[in-house]
Amino acid sequence: MKPPILPGATLGVMGGGQLGRMFVHAAQRLGYITAVLDPDPQSPAGLVSHYHIQTDYLDEQGLAELIQRSAAITTEFENVPAPALLMLGAHRPVAPAADVVAIAQDRAREKTHFMHCGVPCAPYAVIETAGQLAAVREELLPGILKTARLGYDGKGQIRVTTRAELAAAWDELKNLPCVLEAMLPLKAECSVIVARGRDGVMVNFSPQLNRHRDGILAVTEVYEGNLPSALRIQAIAAAKSIAEDLQYVGVLCVEFFVLQDDSLIVNEMAPRPHNSGHYTLDACDVSQFDLQVRAMTGLPLVQPRQHSPAIMLNLLGDLWFDAQGKASTPDWSALLALPGTHLHLYGKPDARPGRKMGHLTLTGADVVSVKTIACQAARILGLPGLESTG
Ligand code: ATP
Ligand code: MG
Repeated sequence: MKPPILPGATLGVMGGGQLGRMFVHAAQRLGYITAVLDPDPQSPAGLVSHYHIQTDYLDEQGLAELIQRSAAITTEFENVPAPALLMLGAHRPVAPAADVVAIAQDRAREKTHFMHCGVPCAPYAVIETAGQLAAVREELLPGILKTARLGYDGKGQIRVTTRAELAAAWDELKNLPCVLEAMLPLKAECSVIVARGRDGVMVNFSPQLNRHRDGILAVTEVYEGNLPSALRIQAIAAAKSIAEDLQYVGVLCVEFFVLQDDSLIVNEMAPRPHNSGHYTLDACDVSQFDLQVRAMTGLPLVQPRQHSPAIMLNLLGDLWFDAQGKASTPDWSALLALPGTHLHLYGKPDARPGRKMGHLTLTGADVVSVKTIACQAARILGLPGLESTG
């Protein structure tokens, strides 16, 4: 086993979004130097990193500079081109590894892996040809057609009810390789974040109860009793077996559906820290970003302890506009006057509807007080009531 890469070394990250920014903060707090590769001069992580390499993800010079600067490299978004990660991996430890990221980038390969691990996923069919389109089984309708690659926040997905709609949807998605999933009766959604080290040690956070609005995560709630305990145990075991089977190194998030009959179905995995784990920064003694740093450097992983119940509200760009569509800044002062609020803004220069601008975590001594504060915060922000997501 190689010795750990110690503080003082430089850690590289592919991608400069908010996940990269929070990784950079965690790495810097431990005394590491950071290098971010992202073409955007205003990228949230680039703005706070020691080094910001502003090139395309496939730019040879940019990748060479990242290799030259970094002792180890990680990624903050799963759509990093696989050839770039392969090239980096030939010269430096890269966690998670290119081949695992490639599986997570492709819904069809991902589902094959889930089935291999014995974790059930939604009934589905791969659609790459007109023949496969015509042969779709009746049980998959109504369903959701999803591009096999490059989807996020519900983009690249179309809900279809009939065969005619399915054919039109596949055309709209430019006849790209797709997966058609049966539309399932969801009771709830949850996710589990695990971290696995090069020595095979694995730790996990508690299962997160997630609520989406318009295909984008809106609210995450994490406390004892957020889900039936049998489901919590099942979800943790499933996430661990998915990571173990991949010999995964790094932080992995597995998203699940809970069906009306309380059965658990795996949706997808993200080979990186996840939006549903942002509460770990304020409610746990070790955050998902701390674990990302530890896993990639070979430092010990410890089982995190959640010290406060938490509710996280995503702050989308919509909040920066009033009902008439005029620009208006949310009332941060009123928000920060509430006890137990942790406001995180990502430093993105312009707000756009649907764009993740920041998040707010509410913590408190008990679940009732956290829920009360979360409702007050939602009211100040003009967010829909916490019960009316879906
Ligand atoms: P992200 O990467 O941001 O999590 P995504 O674009 O990869 O999102 P999915 O997670 O596949 O998208 O789907 C987004 C949301 O759409 C899910 O969280 C769920 O609410 C709903 N959804 C997706 N697939 C199904 C399904 N088969 N049945 C019912 N609802 C679904
Ligand atoms: Mg998802």
